[in-house]
Amino acid sequence: MVARKPPSRKGSFADVPKDLMDQINRLEELFSVPTQKLKEITTHFQSELTRGLSVEGGTIPMNPTWCMAFPDGYETGTFLALDMGGTNLRVCEITLPEAKGEFEIIQSKYRMPEELKTGTAEELWDYVADCLQQFIEYHHEEEKLDQLPLGFTFSYPATQDYIDHGVLQRWTKGFDIEGVEGKDVVPPFQAALVERGLPIKLTALVNDTTGTLIASAYTDTEMRIGCIFGTGCNAAYMENVGSIPKLSHMNLDPDMPMAINCEWGAFDNEHKVLPRTPYDIIIDKESPRPGQQSFEKMIAGLYLGEIFRLVLVDLHENPDCKIFEGQDISKLKKPYSLDAGFLAQIEEDPFENLSETLDLFQNKLSIAATKPELELIRRLAELIGTRAARLSSCGVAAICKKKGWKTCHVGADGSVFHQYPHFKARGAEALREILDWTEKKDPIEILPSEDGSGVGAALIAALTLKRVQQGNY
Ligand code: BGC
Ligand code: MG
Repeated sequence: MVARKPPSRKGSFADVPKDLMDQINRLEELFSVPTQKLKEITTHFQSELTRGLSVEGGTIPMNPTWCMAFPDGYETGTFLALDMGGTNLRVCEITLPEAKGEFEIIQSKYRMPEELKTGTAEELWDYVADCLQQFIEYHHEEEKLDQLPLGFTFSYPATQDYIDHGVLQRWTKGFDIEGVEGKDVVPPFQAALVERGLPIKLTALVNDTTGTLIASAYTDTEMRIGCIFGTGCNAAYMENVGSIPKLSHMNLDPDMPMAINCEWGAFDNEHKVLPRTPYDIIIDKESPRPGQQSFEKMIAGLYLGEIFRLVLVDLHENPDCKIFEGQDISKLKKPYSLDAGFLAQIEEDPFENLSETLDLFQNKLSIAATKPELELIRRLAELIGTRAARLSSCGVAAICKKKGWKTCHVGADGSVFHQYPHFKARGAEALREILDWTEKKDPIEILPSEDGSGVGAALIAALTLKRVQQGNY
């Protein structure tokens, strides 16, 4: 698929007064990432990937996941999968039949209450276990069940010495639950299951990116990387053990594969290459974990609307340019009140006069925007969305360069990838620029992948059981 060049309203600013036009030009400067910069970022990224695998380590955690094989498509069995995301908690039961690459799934979604994200560890595990209990009671009423193996998609950085354990390195994506960081999350989780007498045994603790990689590879043997472009942003790929010096003390077969969860959200925490704007710096400072997830804070869904909001508040308060003059902007002043979906709607406004954007601002923020202000708003959304897509591609390019992959498929999941307008086309365009492609068909394609956190987690549980049965750990 040759992505069509993403549209842009650049140049449609005939009626914009000079003070606003100056601001548009300033934002243009701040948020554009030219090809040369993308290449520079990719080069640094590549060396950070390698550094992360070394004994000394680097800024990116590069966590070995103990997922040590691709599926062959013939995995079988029944598994539970639990996906603890930022907005939802999902429980799935997945059956892998004999037929190659197929699966059946039943699932229930539960809301992840906002308070839980800053509550106590006990509340968290109780809630998660309650959801699993509800699921079992609803779908297996009165049945006597054997122990069901569970793949738990826990989409945060974790240090794993075994696949069924994981020490949370730090919360990301706005989570801030005390007493979990630095500890193994599995014992309290498993204890909450035992307390409820649930016939469930955690078999694999899985990152969503690893799940995406494995789920995509179940049906596509060209898959090499699994990515998430959603509330957070990250990728996993299959490394060979011989290239992971930090595992050398374990005397494993150097040719053995090992999925690495890059945790690339932490890329450039030391601020060497990323073109951070004053707004990115505020986002970081005001977050529960300042100094962490520098890359993620510039590109992930959780932050896109907030970057946008900070710019508009700044422009309103800037004496050199007058936007929303004399209006009550108290709604706009509320942190994290605009999500990536809001930005997506602005970018999707099909009307030449931006009437939908006008309505959005009126309805959501009680702000009456003028025509020139609407032009600025639309361009700002484009700039933020484009920057996110372009920077994301640096990570993909860096992994491919490190591995020497010239052609492959990359599986991507997450709300931003699936729903944000032009994200795919902008990312593909950036990849072409970074890797200097002139071919008609892109040699490396980022393709939509569905349900790594469900099917992927189940497959990893299946692969783990197979490995245990074969006497390997
Ligand atoms: C987490 C990763 C996760 C990513 C996407 C990041 O905040 O640290 O573990 O893969 O979000 O969900
Ligand atoms: Mg998810």
